[in-house]
Amino acid sequence: MTTVPQPTDGTRWRCTLCGNLTRFDVTRTSKVVEYVHLDLAGESTVEEREVVSETIESVRCRWCNAVDQIELVDRPGADS
Ligand SMILES: [Zn+2]
Repeated sequence: MTTVPQPTDGTRWRCTLCGNLTRFDVTRTSKVVEYVHLDLAGESTVEEREVVSETIESVRCRWCNAVDQIELVDRPGADS
């Protein structure tokens, strides 16, 4: 359940209030399967990480702190 549109190959986020295109704080909920490899001393390393599902909860503009005031605009050079 999010009001944030997902950017695509041809679009990007833009803050509707200040026009910021480049800096956002993204709060994301992910369900992830990790392949954990432990050595004989018990030290663990994550060797693979598969994202099963992912939801963007909110996006906050780093410039003006607006929350979820995001629209999609065309990327420069994207085919229209
Ligand atoms: Zn902004």
